[in-house]
Amino acid sequence: MATRIKILTVSLLAFSFTYWAGFAYLGTMLETPAYYLASLIFEKTTSPEELIKKYENGNIKILIVPGHDKENYGAQYRGVTESSLNAELGVQLFEYFRKDPKFTVFLTNKSTGEYNGWILDYVKSQDTAINAFKEKTKAIFKNAVKIGAIKQETKILHNPATDNASKILYGVNKWANDNDIDMVLHLHFNDYPGRKYDMPGKYKGFAIYIPDDQLPNHQASLEIARSIRKEIKKIQTESNFSKEKDIIIEDQQLIAVGANASRDGVSILIEYGYIYEPEFYDKEIRPYALRDAAIATYQGVKNFFEQKPVRN
Ligand SMILES: [Zn+2]
Repeated sequence: MATRIKILTVSLLAFSFTYWAGFAYLGTMLETPAYYLASLIFEKTTSPEELIKKYENGNIKILIVPGHDKENYGAQYRGVTESSLNAELGVQLFEYFRKDPKFTVFLTNKSTGEYNGWILDYVKSQDTAINAFKEKTKAIFKNAVKIGAIKQETKILHNPATDNASKILYGVNKWANDNDIDMVLHLHFNDYPGRKYDMPGKYKGFAIYIPDDQLPNHQASLEIARSIRKEIKKIQTESNFSKEKDIIIEDQQLIAVGANASRDGVSILIEYGYIYEPEFYDKEIRPYALRDAAIATYQGVKNFFEQKPVRN
């Protein structure tokens, strides 16, 4: 009997708490509906402080995604494909993280550019779940825009990913979310679409794309990107393309960085340079240029976790 009364009191207390919390909730919502709804829908999923704590207490999980694959190879210059550069760089970067006990690292592509079996199997076996994930995130985001909780931003126009590429990228995001991957690094080389065939274009240098400040994984991605920028700057010039003048560019549309709030953890896409830049094109210099790029990226990430100050 006594127990029953106790349960009743507790549930009454719980009820009144919910009741008043409900009012407080309504009040906040009425004050600033857009802000409140945005934070309700896209609650921050990761923070720099949490990540550093996690690193101090153990281990950070990283997924490396060299862009494109052997068939859909991205940019191309005089027979050198972007996917081959991305893949070679990916393998080197993988090795630096693999040797560091503070990181557990995964890699989607082989050194030859093909996807590794595990990611292909995942995308194939989880086809329905990945489609559902894609449609769900899109619908929630669309609704958030409709009610004014999110402002749609289109700063840089990207070539839309093909259906297959889009499926792999949503698959990567879902896999990374489901496996608590703290950081996904997408590796790419840029191209200037206006250049003449087999002739270098007018732009050069690197840029880093991160989720925009309305996406839940923005802040930690930004701080790690700053740290990576500082290191890459030592080996490569910054992009001279006017639309990339910020060097660290906030983006809402790239699936890779978590468009439609499809990524919980950090996601960063690095364009290491333009594919026709001599150090990447020249067969003799290329291995060193890619090695330097791998070291700079690893060091940038490491410095963030070791909390080395960044000044750009
Ligand atoms: Zn690319």
